[in-house]
Amino acid sequence: MTAYPTLKMLINGEWITAGEAGTMAVINPATGGEIAQCPKASPAQLDVALKAAGDAFPGWSRTPGAERHAVLRRAADLLRERALEIATVVTAEMGKPRAQAIGEITSSADVVDFLAEEAKRRGGRLIPTRGHQLIAQMVTHEAIGPAVLLTPWNFPVNLPAKKIAGALAAGCTAILKPAENTPASAQLLVECFVDAGVPKGVLNLVHGDPGPIAEHLIASPVTRKVSFTGSTAVGKHLGALAASHMKRFTPELGGHAPVIVSKHADLDRAIALCAATKFRNAGQVCVSPTRFLVAKEIYDRFVAEFAAQASRIKVGDPGADESVDMGPLAHARRISAMEQVVADAGGNRGEIVTGGSVIERTGFFFEPTVIANPAPDSRFMTEEPFGPIAGVVPFESIEDAVGIANGLRYGLAVYAFSGDLDEAHYLGRALRAGMVGINQLIVASPETPFGGIGDSGFGSEGGEEGYLAFTDTKLVMLAKSGG
Ligand code: NAD
Repeated sequence: MTAYPTLKMLINGEWITAGEAGTMAVINPATGGEIAQCPKASPAQLDVALKAAGDAFPGWSRTPGAERHAVLRRAADLLRERALEIATVVTAEMGKPRAQAIGEITSSADVVDFLAEEAKRRGGRLIPTRGHQLIAQMVTHEAIGPAVLLTPWNFPVNLPAKKIAGALAAGCTAILKPAENTPASAQLLVECFVDAGVPKGVLNLVHGDPGPIAEHLIASPVTRKVSFTGSTAVGKHLGALAASHMKRFTPELGGHAPVIVSKHADLDRAIALCAATKFRNAGQVCVSPTRFLVAKEIYDRFVAEFAAQASRIKVGDPGADESVDMGPLAHARRISAMEQVVADAGGNRGEIVTGGSVIERTGFFFEPTVIANPAPDSRFMTEEPFGPIAGVVPFESIEDAVGIANGLRYGLAVYAFSGDLDEAHYLGRALRAGMVGINQLIVASPETPFGGIGDSGFGSEGGEEGYLAFTDTKLVMLAKSGG
């Protein structure tokens, strides 16, 4: 068993255990017990981190891309070397089964690798000129400046890794404020970057209450970019704040992903993939498949087999038993959110086919739950559940299904299963979202953009967009000096 590290902040290259704003408890969601106390940054400590990020920016942004690449590549290697140790901490802090935690960390290393490569290869472009005096029109992508990175707990390594690597690859410096319940996961990640040779002040890590810290960091004139992953409500609040200070802002927010299962789908494969993917990370995934829209001809079979597979999911403490499929929810707030969704789908507003209850044991456990035919205006059908609850709704025509899928203001991921080529093309065109998965439930890879539309946010991080998100576009028009 890996020891849980002493919690620290990284401010101007110094690891600091003393938080001038006191401490906060970190809880193991599988036991409800306290793991550690985490230091909280005071406004003065935030100001030191801001000054460090501002002072380090000119040097880091002028460091050749090949050198930034080399540092980030070493960080990716360290992440892979330390994956088992970090995975134990991820499991203890937010309840993800160990195999899923290891997968998250190794895929984070792949993301860092890809963005490191962008530091070497990303050029600008040369645009042909119209006149004779003008000899060059050059477009370049320049590092924006110090970036504030605000990350949640559901992927406590991958989301910070993606933002840190994008920022540092582009030449930005950064201050990371991770979720309150996963500070050590972020700390072990940051250690990989420091040990890889990231210079003093280029990367800073602070902990504490998210609202006041975000407000302080966003308002500072040092900050030039804000990247946030989390709920739509908080994203709107931070977006308004960023706009009032004219800061670049990338929000990656919630979703309520529909999955259309056509009568032309390979049904056995679709059911197996849906049941396996829906309950990954206890459903606490922004692109989690959630609203299952199933052709009426195959609806009964889908509900019965999907619910049967859901009921066989082994739930337990992943820190004590590596064979569990699903751990606890991340904190007590998620349990009350699940109870509200289920209560609202009761009576004649839906049928709870399996699950629906809190699991009576210590920690924050909820049963894998399937609701058949939830009412269109139910909480489940209109609000992101962000937990182990799936709903299945029958549809008459594929156009009706697209109408239901596109009916919410969310637009992060959507999925569809169909073996009919024309129908698959139609679905790819008609579904409104940042990412569409057809005949599979994966929409993320290190090479591809990740982001949503509508209430799911805007902009992308991941792929080359994950580098460009931390750059300003600059035009240089060069004319002859005379004659
Ligand atoms: P929450 O909104 O209280 O917290 C979610 C995250 O936002 C936390 O990590 C927290 O640090 C941060 N946060 C909260 N208030 C903030 C503020 N004022 N300024 C800056 N950051 C702030 O909700 P929760 O119960 O912890 O999580 C569930 C909700 O969060 C879900 O409804 C889901 O939409 C959303 N969420 C989304 C993602 C995602 O990947 N898009 C990840 C985690 C949580």
